[in-house]
Parts: sequence; C-alpha cells; structure tokens
Amino acid sequence: MSTNQLYAGYQSELADFRLAFSRGGAYTAIALVLLGVGLDYGQYPQQQLAFGLARVVVSLLIAGVVVMLYSAAGRRFAPWLTLTWLLLPQIMIAWMISQTEGVESPYYVGLNLAIFASGIALPFGLWQNLVFGLLSYLLYAAACLLHHGGIEPVGTFIVNSLFLLFAAAASGVYTFFNERARFMLFRLKAEVAEKNAELEVINRKLVDIKGQMLQQEKMAAIGTLAAGLLHEVNNPVNFCLMAIEVAMEEPQAKENPSLEECLVDAKQGMQRIQHIVSDLKTFAYRKPGAEVEGTPFLFEKALDSSIRLTAHELRGVKVTRELPDDTLVLGDEAAVIGVLINLFSNAALAMRKAGTVAPAIHTTVKWMENRLHVRVQDNGPGIAAENIARVFEPFFTTRDVGQGLGLGLSISYAVIERHGGQLIAESDFGHWAAFRFDLPRAE
Ligand code: ADP
Repeated sequence: MSTNQLYAGYQSELADFRLAFSRGGAYTAIALVLLGVGLDYGQYPQQQLAFGLARVVVSLLIAGVVVMLYSAAGRRFAPWLTLTWLLLPQIMIAWMISQTEGVESPYYVGLNLAIFASGIALPFGLWQNLVFGLLSYLLYAAACLLHHGGIEPVGTFIVNSLFLLFAAAASGVYTFFNERARFMLFRLKAEVAEKNAELEVINRKLVDIKGQMLQQEKMAAIGTLAAGLLHEVNNPVNFCLMAIEVAMEEPQAKENPSLEECLVDAKQGMQRIQHIVSDLKTFAYRKPGAEVEGTPFLFEKALDSSIRLTAHELRGVKVTRELPDDTLVLGDEAAVIGVLINLFSNAALAMRKAGTVAPAIHTTVKWMENRLHVRVQDNGPGIAAENIARVFEPFFTTRDVGQGLGLGLSISYAVIERHGGQLIAESDFGHWAAFRFDLPRAE
C-alpha cells in the first residue's frame, strides 16, 4: 500500500472518529452547560435568571450544530463544526465574566478547562486546537476589557492570561503528538491487515500445493505397487495361461464340454487379470517436470475420434465444442483419446443414471501460454463434495458391483501427468460436473 493510499484511508477513518467524538463531546457540553446553573446559584444568585437563559440558548445552539454534524457536509467540516460548538460555551463564559467580576471572576477556570478538554478528549486537528486556544484567550481579554471596572488588578490579569496561553500551548502540543500516535496506530493496523491478507494467500497456495503433493505421492506409491505387482503377477499369469491353453488342446477337454467351458472361463479370467495389470502400468512413476515424450498430433482429431468411439454411449446427448484454429500438441495421442473416451463415457453414464433431462456435454479448448487447456462439462448430477477428491483414487467407483473398476480416472490422471499437466475435477453438486486438463504445445 502506498503512503498516499495509507494517508487517504487514515483520513477517512479519522473523519468517522472525529465525527463520533464531536457528537459525544457536544452532548457532554450541553449537559455541563445546563448543570452550570448550580454554579450560578452558588456564585451569582442575583444573575440566576439571565445566566440560566443564556445557558438554555447556548445549549440549543450546540444542539443545532449537532444536527449539522449528522448531515453529509457535517462529516467533511466536522473539525470546524466542533470548533464552533466549543466556542459557544466559551463566548457564554466570557459574557458572564464581563457581567460579573471581570479579571477576578472564578469562571475563568471554565475557559481553561475547555482548552484542556479540547486537546485531551477531542480528536481535534492541530490548527483547530491552536485557533481555539487563541480565541478563548481573546474572549477572556475582551471580557475583562468590557467589564465595567476595566482590566483590574493587572497582575491577576497577567497571571490568568499566562495560564490560559500555557493551557493553549500544552493542549496544542498534546494534540500534535496525539495525531502522530493515531497515525502510527492506523499505519500499524493497515500493515497488519495487509500482512494478514498476504498470509491468507500463501496459506491457500500451501493448501493447494499440499493437495497436489498428496495426489502425486499417492500416484507414486501406486506406481511402485504397480511395478511390483506387474513383476510378481505377470509370470504366474503367463504360466497359467500357457497351462490352460495346453489343457484345452487335450482330447479329454475337447470331448468334455463342461470341462472345456471351465477352461475357457479360466482363460478369460486370466486375460482379465493381464489387462488390469497392464492398465496399472500407466501408473509407473514419472518424475515431475521431466520432458514429455511423444509425437505432435492435432488435439481436434483426437477429440473427433473419441466422440466417434463413444457414439454408442453418447446417443441422445447433445455434444458441443469450442476449439481454437490450431490445436497441435505433443504427446501420446492414443492415451489422450483414452482419457477423452473415459470422460465422455463417465459423463454419459452419470447423466443416464440420474435421468438428466436434455443431457449435454460441452468441451472448451483454449491456449493459455504454451499449454492447451481442455474442459469437458456435463449437465448431469455432478459429484458430491466428499467424493471430488476421491474420484482419482484407483478403484474408487460409485457404479454397481461388476460394472466399473474405478480405474478410468486414475489412469487418466497418470496419463495427463505424463504430459506435464494436471487433471482436475470440478462440480456443482446436483447441477454439473467438469474435468479439465492441459497438454503441451508442439514446438
Ligand atoms: P468408473 O467409471 O469405473 O467408476 P472412474 O475412475 O472413471 O471409474 O470414475 C470414478 C467415479 O467418478 C465414478 O464411479 C463416478 O462416481 C465419478 N464420476 C466420474 N465422472 C463423473 C461425471 N461426469 N459425473 C458424475 N460422477 C462422475
């Protein structure tokens, strides 16, 4: 934040602060002015009526200024309006001094008190404070001068004058340091707020990074597991397949249909295991940031192929797309087609299962710097918040038993990662689900 911005923010906050204090101070002043009838009664009972009237008039005038303080202009001119209502009781006191004992009137203390109070209690500007101190003194001098006995005794007048001027100076110094302290406090507050906002951003980034790292770690662990599994399972599966094929060639098997059927089932089961294991190969760990292997291909063509290949599942679904002119990317075309097929068939299946009216899938493709960003969105049931992070977990599925292995998205995730990108799921549960990923530009 620049010093100017900081200063503007401070000025605005200070304006509110001054306004609130000015109103509070004015109400206090009205109360004190009215309570002063007690002083009049003790000191000048013969003037009670005139002074009482003066107090009521001054209180009403202060109330008038308070009304102005509530207006829009009041906020802007708050320091000057404060000066105005502060001067009203000073004028009244000066008039009372001139009407009573002049220089020797004890009401001079009231003038002094207001000067101190303005410096200590009111968030006044330095200038207003100095003007107020000086005007209060001039009012005192005028009151003594207008008193029928004149400025007498001169010694007391000098002492009182000095006390009033000292009070004005002390109040000015106090106001000056008060303003500075207030400014520093505000700056500190603004700095803390700024640092907090920065921390918030860093925190959010850290949470994102932590999520990505967890996902990468999970995939790396599965990669290690898959490599081990591949090694351990492939050999026995191959032996079994060979043994089954040899057994199927035996005359007993050919003569006995139920035995042959058993062997065919066993062979299919073994082949299924082989496919699962080879699917798991995709997880083989790849270092993040390593060069993307593959050949240049047009993403548009891969998209066409995948839509064609899923035509059967996409029956009744409105498929739309938005593509840039050039979509030449680098990578494994077959694997990317596999990812798209997976996304389309998942969306179609989810929409069919949920009975979505007017099912639609929209694919948006855009270049962002050197990567092609793809987003596939459907208007199906969406994915519940608690499942969104789990959809990439191998074997996570909400399909019925035997219908889906729950490997599609985890394999797709690994494929995109191999292309130096990320596959991300988004959803507004009950309304839509979207998957987005990015691929490198072919140089
Ligand atoms: P499978 O399709 O075998 O279940 P996937 O890994 O492809 O495995 O998907 C995992 C799960 O993610 C699905 O079972 C489904 O719950 C959820 N899913 C994926 N795509 C969508 C989608 N477009 N809309 C709603 N749910 C989805």
